[in-house]
Amino acid sequence: MAQRAAVADGGNKKTSRVRVAVRLRPYVGKQDERSEGPCVKGLDAQNLEIINWRNATETVKYHFDVYHDEQTTQQEVFLSSVKPILPHILSGQNASVFAYGPTGAGKTHTMLGSSEQPGVIPRAVREVFNLVKAKDEDEGWDYSIGMSYLEIYNEKVLDLLSLSSQDLPIREDRDKNILIPGLTHTTISSFSEFDKHFVPASLNRTTASTKLNERSSRSHAILLIKVVRTQRAFPHRQQTGKLYLVDLAGSEDNRRTGNRGIRLKESGAINLSLFTLSKVVDSLNSGTAVRVPYRDSKLTRLLQDSLGGSAHSLMITNIAPEYKYYFDTFSALNFAAKSKLIVNKPFTRETVAVPVLPVKRAREDHEAGRSGT
Ligand code: ADP
Ligand code: MG
Repeated sequence: MAQRAAVADGGNKKTSRVRVAVRLRPYVGKQDERSEGPCVKGLDAQNLEIINWRNATETVKYHFDVYHDEQTTQQEVFLSSVKPILPHILSGQNASVFAYGPTGAGKTHTMLGSSEQPGVIPRAVREVFNLVKAKDEDEGWDYSIGMSYLEIYNEKVLDLLSLSSQDLPIREDRDKNILIPGLTHTTISSFSEFDKHFVPASLNRTTASTKLNERSSRSHAILLIKVVRTQRAFPHRQQTGKLYLVDLAGSEDNRRTGNRGIRLKESGAINLSLFTLSKVVDSLNSGTAVRVPYRDSKLTRLLQDSLGGSAHSLMITNIAPEYKYYFDTFSALNFAAKSKLIVNKPFTRETVAVPVLPVKRAREDHEAGRSGT
């Protein structure tokens, strides 16, 4: 097999930031019996505000790369945040797009969607096929597209395209490419062929038994689309570009550890991969030369060559507007924000209702140093 050509990125070795988009889903009245109205409010294309529970006369204002309000369509999310990344996959570069946020906030809607409202995954796969089709024959490269689909559950790596899957090892080759020997990798030549493999596997994962729902909120579903291009003429150079599309576990498992610098507390509920992902994103985005702790979890180890470095990375943080999500929203925003600001003005609504908190939880938040000031 031809040696994988080094990724040419203009000699730019700088570690790239993870772009952060926030998407607010529409308010679902029935979930909120007291009908208190939303506790989050968009301000413009990059900012939103949330009531400060410590002090109802204050608002906390957050700034992101992109803010998608509750009216944003699936098409708009794809066009503005995902589509621009895809051409890089055809020239041997790597990328990752992941949906973060509490269970019920819209991660699966964003990534998978429905047949009426397809999400990032079907749109991105279609687009990759379109880009390959549009390539000029005269450029002299042949393209081949393949897929793998896996799940990380309890720090085990499981193949979703194989029925008899057991925990698979993650390895690194001499060129620092991350790979999983034994993982099913299927060549696909059209979108419908992709669908034929993907749909049964993802249905398997999300079907409606309570147990499976629990699993899907605790596991990370990871789709890999790999584009290999080979030069037709000698020396038959070969380049591989990888695109990871990830529906992460619910961030509510992570709520006591979501802030930077917080010690990992002992708790069965903590999801190591999600916790480590937040540390990796923090260290990539803080721009300091600290060690990026990729090796501390399966998810981050797998994504090592496709998150940060010369890769193109996007995190879509999904949040819900109802009060019952208030603390999960708060912690997801603290993880995602580029910056935040306490503004000395009440949250702009008719009435300001302070969410009713169980005392214990408020105290835990306090101990975890959850920032409200
Ligand atoms: P998660 O995967 O984060 O647990 P889901 O994607 O399953 O959340 O979303 C929870 C519910 O909200 C689903 O019924 C979903 O269809 C709906 N939903 C989520 N986001 C949106 C949106 N932007 N527009 C309309 N409905 C949405
Ligand atoms: Mg989901």
